Amino acid sequence: VEEGQVQVGILALQGDVREHRLALTELGAATREVRRPDDLIGLEGIVLPGGESTTMSLLLDSSGLMDPLRKQLDAGLPAFGTCAGLILLATEVVDGRPDQQHFGRIDVSARRNGYGRQIRSFEAELDVPALGDTPLHAVFIRAPVVVRAGPDVEVLAELPAAVEEDLADAATPPTEHRPVLCRQGPVLVSAFHPELTGDRRLHGLFLSMIDAAA
Ligand code: GLN
Repeated sequence: VEEGQVQVGILALQGDVREHRLALTELGAATREVRRPDDLIGLEGIVLPGGESTTMSLLLDSSGLMDPLRKQLDAGLPAFGTCAGLILLATEVVDGRPDQQHFGRIDVSARRNGYGRQIRSFEAELDVPALGDTPLHAVFIRAPVVVRAGPDVEVLAELPAAVEEDLADAATPPTEHRPVLCRQGPVLVSAFHPELTGDRRLHGLFLSMIDAAA
């Protein structure tokens, strides 16, 4: 770690670790893959990537990371969860495995594979006022649906109504509001995969949240 560099961990038990690492490195952060409890030492923020939340839950247990990571998150470690990472950070998981664990750091209910197994992936242009006027291109892959966002949750982007209509046969019936990017305190979550596009604004927002928390 060079002077002035922020140290960000990426949970690297499974899932799309490399792309997050690249995005954060491009923005000047020092990154570290987190596989064992020792890897948590000295982190100023952590990314929980996409992948399979049930598998990650099992691997968190077997690696011994579950408890120490939970402690750090409870103590306010800034976290950015994308897709499966959103599920891991949610207070409630719908359609999960009964033994699936989650950290409950953001007050949302996440329905796993909520767009239906048929609709494995889709893309959308999101209006994200917090990131400026240029829409954010978002890639959704067997994404969770945020079926509830609590009063303390700041919804930074919703799925546009037109996309909702295209997904009319999705498993979760369309609602007026479908949050896909949310923040609560030091925790940022997206239902989509920001690491798969060249747009670094969301990783930049997370780094500014880490700054603000420091
Ligand atoms: N469907 C996955 C899960 O439930 C999430 C998919 C993803 O991260 N791309 O964990």
